[in-house]
Formats: sequence, C-alpha cells, structure tokens
Amino acid sequence: MVETLSGGPVAVTCHCGACELRVTLADGLNSARRCDCSFCRRRGAAAVTAPKGGVEVVKGADRMTLYQFGTKTAQHYFCSVCGIYMYHRRRRTRTSSA
Ligand SMILES: [Zn+2]
Repeated sequence: MVETLSGGPVAVTCHCGACELRVTLADGLNSARRCDCSFCRRRGAAAVTAPKGGVEVVKGADRMTLYQFGTKTAQHYFCSVCGIYMYHRRRRTRTSSA
C-alpha cells in the first residue's frame, strides 16, 4: 500500500503491517509497467521502478521471504505473514521494483 506520493520517498506496507518499505521512485508513477517474465505474468500487477538504493526496508526484514527461480538472479520478496508481494531486484539491472 502506497501511503503518499508527494515527491519524496513513499511508505509501502504489506497487508498485515509486519513489513514496511521506504521507496524512492526513479520517475514516480511514470515508470509503472507490466513485467512479462513468467512470474510477473501470473502475478498480474504493475510495478514501478526505484534506482539502486531506492528501496529501504524499514520494518520486517526478518519477516520477508525470498523467492527465486530460473537463473536465481532476480530476488522476489514477500511478507511471510500475509503473503503480500513487497518488491523485487531485477536480473539485468541494479534497480528494484515495488
Ligand atoms: Zn504482512
């Protein structure tokens, strides 16, 4: 859940509140897109892009679960309590998406 989009970092939480991110977007919501990898096609959600270092885990780092597949290069993080997808680090770049 995105709590504010007032230009600075935005707070993103999972459903149960165990996990919280502070995200600085590369180009605000203009970077929103749908990834066409096998995982994101099934997930069906749009993602926005943050530059390297633009995603800070404020709360719940120990509650997040890592999922990897294929080359196991991309890192997909979920809340292990409520199952909400939090963010991922891409295979080809050093950016993150939330
Ligand atoms: Zn949660």
